[in-house]
Amino acid sequence: MSIPSPILPLSDGHSIPQLGLGVYKIPDADAATAVRLALETGYRHIDTAALYENERGVGQGIAASGIDRSEIFVTTKVWNDRHGIDETRRAFDESLDRLGLDYVDLYLIHWPAPKQGRYLEAWRALEKIRADGLARSIGVSNFHTHHLDRVLAEGEIAPVINQVELHPRLPQTAVRAYDAAHGILTEAWSPLARGRLLDSQLLAGIAEKYGKSVAQVVIRWHIELGNVVIPKSVHAERIRENFEVFDFALDANDLAAIATLENGERTGRDPDDLD
Ligand code: NDP
Repeated sequence: MSIPSPILPLSDGHSIPQLGLGVYKIPDADAATAVRLALETGYRHIDTAALYENERGVGQGIAASGIDRSEIFVTTKVWNDRHGIDETRRAFDESLDRLGLDYVDLYLIHWPAPKQGRYLEAWRALEKIRADGLARSIGVSNFHTHHLDRVLAEGEIAPVINQVELHPRLPQTAVRAYDAAHGILTEAWSPLARGRLLDSQLLAGIAEKYGKSVAQVVIRWHIELGNVVIPKSVHAERIRENFEVFDFALDANDLAAIATLENGERTGRDPDDLD
């Protein structure tokens, strides 16, 4: 068994394992195996979404692991076409049913979809889902600070997490500062920039110094920034490799060198442009 992930406190009194497994693009038929492998490795946090069409497989993997449900942190998300007080609740009930669970640990609004302009209604639905005990915590994903301003001003409770695209090319300094100032944890999606960072010579040099892989160096960078981080892999050896990041640390020189990789490049869409 590997060294376990640190656990970070959430502003609502719950807590989240800092390192989890992302499952975007893992087919439903393979998700159970990936999730079970991750749980055997020591992961206690799985990040899925209705969009990924693998909630059923994720739920099966959790059940097959034999690990107590209370030890596993499960996140899922409401897709953009289900914003609305009643509609979001129906979408949540369907997700919970596919997962085969009684509750999720974290439910997120997947994107603000600002042209539809219904993310505040979706947020009200999430507040009710939380009040009903069906999601322990609620948060958002892909929210720019101007979207968060509205949720904080008009919502009854604040999101505990903002899950955004974040990696050395796109360190999201302003979003992280805003989140931190409002007690919101920042969670990094596409933490490896979907693999595009893995041929960096600069990162290869740092990796060699520690006897680690480039992926491990990048995941360690997220850990040291304080991000929640959810690298995805469908391969057993990489699922294990990505968890072996708690036996070394980057120094100030490494962090300064990695900072030079920033170029603002997104692998996904700008949240203001996706509806
Ligand atoms: P990642 O940055 O995690 O990169 C995944 C890619 O890197 C895959 O191609 C994977 O290949 C490869 N990879 C993983 N580990 C290694 C390794 N050790 N060595 C070499 N290659 C590796 O991208 P994702 O976009 O999947 O982001 C992670 C998670 O974030 C998603 O799975 C999802 O849960 C979440 N997400 C959320 C979004 C949102 O809008 N909220 C949007 C996108 C993602 P392989 O699987 O073949 O090993």
